[in-house]
Amino acid sequence: MTSPRFSEQFAWHTLVAAQIEDHLETRHEGLSRAEADARRAIVGSNELEEVPPPSGLTILLHQFTSPLIYLLLVATVVTLALGEYVDAGVIAFVLALNALIGFTQERRAEESVRALMELLSPHARVVREGHEWQIESRELVPGDVVLLESGVRVPADLRLVTMNALEIDESLLTGESVPVHKHARRLDAGIALADRTNMAFTGTIVTAGRARGFVVATGLATALGSVAEQVRTQDTTETPLQRRMVRFAQTIALIVGISAIVLFALGIALGEPASDMFLAAVAMAVAAVPEGLPIAFTVALALGVRRMARRHAVIRHLPAVETLGSTTVIGSDKTGTLTENRMTVQALWTAMGETTVGDGTLTPLHEDDPRLRTLLAGVLANEAEAYRTTEGLTTEGDPTEVALLVAASELGVEPEEVRDEYRELEEIPFESERRFSGSVREHSDERLLFVKGAPERVVDMCDRICTEHGEHLIDGQAVHRAARAMAARGLRVLAMADGPVAQVGDLEAPGGLRFLGLQGMLDPPRAGVAEAITGCRAAGIRVMMITGDHAITARAIAAELGIADQDAPVLTGVELDDLDDDELRRRVHEVSVYARVAPEHKLAVVRALQAEGEVVAVTGDGVNDAPALKAAEIGIAMGRGGTDVAREAADMVLTDDNFVSIHAAVEEGRVTFDNVRKVTFFLLSTGAAAILVILLATVFRWPLPLLPAQLLWLNLVTNGLQDVALAFEPGEPHVLRRPPRPRAEGVVSRVLWERTVLAGAVMAAGTLALYRWELDQTGDLTRARTVALTTLVVFMAFHVGNSRSEWQSAFRISPFSNRFLLGAQALALALQVGALYLPATQYVLRVEPIELGAWVRIVMVASTVLVAVEIDKAFRRRLAARRGGRSATTT
Ligand code: ATP
Repeated sequence: MTSPRFSEQFAWHTLVAAQIEDHLETRHEGLSRAEADARRAIVGSNELEEVPPPSGLTILLHQFTSPLIYLLLVATVVTLALGEYVDAGVIAFVLALNALIGFTQERRAEESVRALMELLSPHARVVREGHEWQIESRELVPGDVVLLESGVRVPADLRLVTMNALEIDESLLTGESVPVHKHARRLDAGIALADRTNMAFTGTIVTAGRARGFVVATGLATALGSVAEQVRTQDTTETPLQRRMVRFAQTIALIVGISAIVLFALGIALGEPASDMFLAAVAMAVAAVPEGLPIAFTVALALGVRRMARRHAVIRHLPAVETLGSTTVIGSDKTGTLTENRMTVQALWTAMGETTVGDGTLTPLHEDDPRLRTLLAGVLANEAEAYRTTEGLTTEGDPTEVALLVAASELGVEPEEVRDEYRELEEIPFESERRFSGSVREHSDERLLFVKGAPERVVDMCDRICTEHGEHLIDGQAVHRAARAMAARGLRVLAMADGPVAQVGDLEAPGGLRFLGLQGMLDPPRAGVAEAITGCRAAGIRVMMITGDHAITARAIAAELGIADQDAPVLTGVELDDLDDDELRRRVHEVSVYARVAPEHKLAVVRALQAEGEVVAVTGDGVNDAPALKAAEIGIAMGRGGTDVAREAADMVLTDDNFVSIHAAVEEGRVTFDNVRKVTFFLLSTGAAAILVILLATVFRWPLPLLPAQLLWLNLVTNGLQDVALAFEPGEPHVLRRPPRPRAEGVVSRVLWERTVLAGAVMAAGTLALYRWELDQTGDLTRARTVALTTLVVFMAFHVGNSRSEWQSAFRISPFSNRFLLGAQALALALQVGALYLPATQYVLRVEPIELGAWVRIVMVASTVLVAVEIDKAFRRRLAARRGGRSATTT
């Protein structure tokens, strides 16, 4: 940035290519790596200032902004005022500890999410040392040669030098959403930035065409860099679940606050001294506040995101984690997601009939053979690269195009050679919407257009067909029959044609061509996809195929994968255009295969599904898929094959482009939500038990059975360990065998609310019974309180086992499937035993050792919660089975 040559102030638009190269000290074949490194050392990385991560202090303060914490702060003040310094100290300590744990957890979660985002950092295609490379955009330097194609976000400010039908959406900079046509000619000085149509600016989006340009400015020196502050968009990372949790916490705080006041009033009315009742009210508040919830919740969510990433699904927007569990329909692309996108040409069809390729039976072809002409056109109207090295044929480019080069090469048509013979003059690049590509070439003083594309498109351009013995009038129907026969075998069919440029008219919509032949290529289904689709179905999720490919090919692959039957209906883009909204809403129920669709059709299908109440996940990779990705509840983009635009519009990115990963993400989404639910249930039951203990003791006019410090110990230390461990639950075997969770269903289901009351009552009754018994036997309040606290701790160690499944018996889940939890249970009990014997904890918690007999009584009483919840589960399972609901066995 020290040199003016590297600044955007420079009038790059007024120069011709040679002058630009001079000024940038670069050349057509790009910089060398060493030069690039040296430049980066001067100008810095090509990055706009990053959104700084939240500071440590912000995260720390965040820990104190919960209504639950406010309650505890009030409790500290009240206990201080009462002169209960030990209790006040303990509450303060717990607050600090809570903040510290929350702080580290939140920070770790933040970091791991950031690290995952890094995976998605933007890339750029450059030419360096004469070769094409894919590098991280931040490594670009002025002087680099960058290649653009549709769907790419421009990685730096470029002066364009060659291009093909390039259009760029510059709305980011200008607010104008109509794409700008670009060109490479020099412009006059004094033209405003927005009108410099031979430049491409950082952050804008290529909507069509291809181009090559020199980087003239990077990072903050770019046009975007100077306005970066204004365009920076801060993603809100708060999920619906988080919002619900906040509301939940507020409700709890409110209930707790009111109960504490009621308790206080009740006690006073019964004639208890005010100071005792203050203490009781504080104890109640402390007991009922689920202090551990925010932490366990953060852990569960972060774990979910991490587990998904391990299974190749990177979450861009956190709400997706939750929504995945409610997804009812997945609309998937075919090529590359359901199939391998590794194409091989299997068959050739020409006027001579069909020929099998790749079995070695085809001998070298003579020059007039239409099969040879078909292969030749496949090579010439082709953007991929193939060159011979010592290791054989090296290829690069789109798999469809590469397949054509490989087939030709195997049959003696060497791409490198014929491309030299037929010099390229102009290219019509492939765009999905156009469904064909072309190339104008010069050969023996003749200018020829070569075309390849979807058969329907290409046949319409032709009036003749090439045969061994010259040309004939084309029989379009015969060609279509042949194409359909190939497609029915699941082959992707492309047609080739050629003709003298003088006769074709408009290159964008050519006519008067000679039809050459068809090439059918096989793109095998990806391993595991069929199983994943069966899995989705078992999970109550419908899978749809939404593809740009031919209807018959689409149906053949869909049948192979189990998406639809061989004779199932297929809707094509053209047919979709004829349906009104209501008809489409009706059809989406029965049609699972959509073929020859354009991106706007995909959007229409998504909308129709949503109107029918479905929760839709949809995949997309092209520029124009962005609206569908945004409209769907879960937009899924491809990490490898997709465009920048699609990735940015998506909620989730698949790092392996594989459908199987969507299935995996759904599973992890459900597991994560389940875990949040389990943790919440566990903590709620603890709160319910503690509230009941204190409330009933007050009603019975017994001395306070549990002190605030003891309740905090229970909530934070012994339970704190277990609730976080519960967030590590591996997921129940049936998560993928039950229907999607209704979206409106809360974090805690009705069953769990009812069970909270049940478990709370059982635990409170057991605790009070033992407390009263000890008090009557010994008259020693400290001892009775010790027993009460220990009883609750042991109750919780049993109850956490109950919380591992909503429906399944605790005995049917291996304790070893969540070793964290097993460890946490053991540790919680060990800590409790330790607390009874250590002088320090004895003093702070006001507890004392108890003898073996008391332990036996405690364990026996505490196990009742296991029995009670087991009976409840069995009863509900039976009830559900009798109702015949599918939830009987699956949920
Ligand atoms: P999906 O939408 O499932 O990824 P797709 O890859 O077939 O399927 P597009 O890439 O939009 O979808 O292709 C649409 C059609 O255009 C193809 O079915 C084919 O007929 C034609 N086509 C695809 N690639 C090329 C290409 N490189 N050159 C010419 N025509 C092509």
